[in-house]
Parts: sequence; C-alpha cells; structure tokens
Amino acid sequence: MARHRIGVIGLGKIAQDQHLPVIAASDAFELAAVSSQRGLTAPGAMTFRDHAVLLRQTPDLAAVAICTPPQVRHAIARDALAAGKHVMLEKPPTATLAELSDLTAEAARRNLVLMTTWHSQYNAAVDAAQAILAGETVTCLFIDWKEDVRKWHPGQAWIWRAGGFGVFDPGINALSIATKILPRPLFVASAELLTPANAEAPIAATLAFAGPGDLRAEFDWRQTGGEVWEITVTTASGRTLKLSAGGSRLSVDGTPHTAAPSQEYTGIYRHFAELLRTGRSHVDARPFELVADAFLLGSRVPTAPFHD
Ligand code: NAP
Repeated sequence: MARHRIGVIGLGKIAQDQHLPVIAASDAFELAAVSSQRGLTAPGAMTFRDHAVLLRQTPDLAAVAICTPPQVRHAIARDALAAGKHVMLEKPPTATLAELSDLTAEAARRNLVLMTTWHSQYNAAVDAAQAILAGETVTCLFIDWKEDVRKWHPGQAWIWRAGGFGVFDPGINALSIATKILPRPLFVASAELLTPANAEAPIAATLAFAGPGDLRAEFDWRQTGGEVWEITVTTASGRTLKLSAGGSRLSVDGTPHTAAPSQEYTGIYRHFAELLRTGRSHVDARPFELVADAFLLGSRVPTAPFHD
C-alpha cells in the first residue's frame, strides 16, 4: 500500500526527537516536506521556511503534523485544513478550547481527519490501568508530576508566556493519563498556580478535584535530582495502582504488573494511519478542559522570579 505523504511543521525538540525518526521507520508514512522558520532541513524532504508556502507547493501531501508551540497551532491548522490536508496536532492541541472546537468543526465540514496527540496515553501500562479500573470506585487519586524545567525545556521562552501553559505543559501529560484510566470524569474543584514574578505562566500548581474521594494533583518544575512522574490510584475494593516513569510502568498492590519501553510516538502514528484509513477524527479535549478549568478557578500565588 502506498504510504501517506506527510509534512512536519516546526522542527523543534519533539519533531527531531520523535516525529522524524518515527516517520522514517514507518510503513504507513513518508516524510515529503518540512517547514522550519530557522531553515532546518530533513533528509529527502522538501524544505520550506513558511508553512503556507509548504501547503501551496506540495499539492500531493496527504497530511501534516504540527509541532510548533501551541499559541500558533490553530492558525496553521486552519491553513492546512483549507489546503485539504489531514492534521495531527501536537499536545496541547491549541491555545484555547474555542480554537479546538473550531478545528473540530472545520475538519468535519471538510471531511478531513483531525487528531489530538496525548502521547502519554500510548503506553501498555496505561491501557492495563484503564482495564483494571473499569467498574471500580476510586477513593484516592494522587498525581505527583515533578521535573526540572531547566533540563526539559531549556531556553523555551514561549512556555513562560500566556498561552504557553507553564508547568501544565508536562502536567497535561499526567492529566491525559488520568482522564484515560479513571472510570469517571474529573472536575477541578480548586487550584493554586504559583507564578514567577517575571513569567505569565505557572512554575508549579496544585489541583484538587471534586469528590467523592480525595483526588489531587501536584505539578512542580523546580524539581532537582531526578524527575517524579507518578500517579497513584486507590479503589474502594482496596487495590492500589501506581503508574510510574511517566506511565510506562504499572504496579498493583506493590507488585510489578506491566512495564514496557515507551513506544508513544509509534503508537500515535499507528493510530493516525488507522484514522486516515477509516476517515474518522480523534479529538480528545478532556485533559485540555481540566487545564483550562484550573486557569479559570485557580488562585494566582506570586513566587520568586525564574531565570533559565
Ligand atoms: P521547541 O523545541 O521550542 O520547538 C518548537 C518549534 O516550533 C521551534 O523550534 C520552531 O521550529 C517552531 N516555532 C516556534 N515558534 C514558532 C512560530 N511562532 N510559528 C511557527 N513555528 C514556530 O518545543 P518542543 O519541545 O518541540 O515543543 C513543541 C510542542 O510539542 C509543544 O506544544 C510541546 O508541549 C509538545 N511536546 C514536547 C515534548 C518534549 O519532550 N519537548 C514532548 C511532547 C510534546 P522551526 O524554527 O524549525 O520552525
């Protein structure tokens, strides 16, 4: 079967670390073009500095993956849909919920596929946790998501600006796991957003979710000495599930259950190929809604200025 010709827009860290190598190894996709404002190139692909020129000059392109910061993703996705391309959106899919609704409607109107990519959902341990929790009553949830921003986001000025999500950039990964595995919806009840005096987005946040049960999350970018990416869930039947290593390892009642090396982006592209085959879109707004609600309900707590 012919491979889908795909373009990648924005050749930053995630495009280089994941999208380009996964496309290169894929049976379903062929990298046809890239767009990089800085003029970066990719072997075998046509290179453009402007996504609009890429869309104009590659009429045989089937799809694009948009790997820019979220603030500019809606406008680029709109242009791609108008040019008749299927669209994969890096996470978080857009800067606002209204933008995501607009893209969802526009893709449907044009019979094109739109896919949101919550990469942390594509782990065998996450699927296993979801299966175990189906039909259970959750009594406790604790999301503990802490990493060193200097290690994971060096020099990314956009992440500190309004619409850059701050600590919710990694935090939304945890929320995408929680919304997938829990047998009932989460609702933000209250939040505290610790925001450096020289930034527009938080460096740390705590969330409490509506009960029943004790449901909480702590996100912190000031972590040093190794990241903590853990989600612990306790059920009324007395089971304790712990997802660790960003959702790639699951233990149940202290016993290792599922551990598989992360194949997140392979899973994402496999899913995208399946959506293209069936002509269906996949738009999951739930993690994004929780972050938006944290910003709506959260109290801003000023904290020390941050310098990269
Ligand atoms: P990044 O390294 O800053 O890369 C973003 C790239 O987008 C830039 O290098 C630039 O590439 C392009 N870009 C920047 N501003 C732009 C603008 N105004 N218009 C068009 N293109 C622009 O960031 P990243 O870490 O790759 O993150 C990108 C997205 O992927 C974020 O939403 C992030 O949450 C998500 N993500 C990141 C990771 C990770 O581990 N880093 C993991 C999963 C998801 P060019 O100069 O080549 O155009």
